[in-house]
Amino acid sequence: MASAVATMHAEPPGICVFCASAPSARYAPLARGLGAAIARRGARLVYGGASVGLMGEVAAGALEAGGEVWGVLPEGLRSREIGHLGLTRLEIVPDMATRKARMDELSRGFVVLPGGYGTLDEWFEMLTAQLLRLHDKPSVALDPDGYFDGLFAWADRAVSEGLLATGPRATLRRVATVEAALDEVLA
Ligand code: AMP
Repeated sequence: MASAVATMHAEPPGICVFCASAPSARYAPLARGLGAAIARRGARLVYGGASVGLMGEVAAGALEAGGEVWGVLPEGLRSREIGHLGLTRLEIVPDMATRKARMDELSRGFVVLPGGYGTLDEWFEMLTAQLLRLHDKPSVALDPDGYFDGLFAWADRAVSEGLLATGPRATLRRVATVEAALDEVLA
């Protein structure tokens, strides 16, 4: 029995990335570099499963570096033919809520890249779950050039208005480098 346990393969840690489904020439290298760095750390990229936009870039970066990539895609988006066909695994789930729950299950932390409503929805759902103690997984934005400045200014305003406590404010975090982001989620 002991030898059977010893020969079992350890699962790589899952790192979930939330980012834009839209393309961005400015942030494509950042997304690709993050994907590659996740693979180099021996972790598995978990993400929304699309082949488009920054999502496609982060997946390409991880795959090119020889990493594992697990996508979790809602059925409705697959029928629009944007699912990435070259992934290690692509899970099709019934809806967006199931997708977020599944990405949470598969991951030990979340890295947020520039994005739009979908990215913020996913990020804030994970922060809210952390506050409600449904999980204790870190979320951190990778923000080398101030893309999220306005969001952080809003959070400070919310604290000064007494609408957000300092504890929850502290869970909204950002770092400037890929390696710092991975250090946070793998710590
Ligand atoms: P957004 O920031 O609005 O582009 O939304 C991107 C985030 O929401 C990603 O992290 C995805 O998990 C999810 N998402 C939104 N739109 C799509 C799409 N067309 N294909 C796949 N995932 C999407």
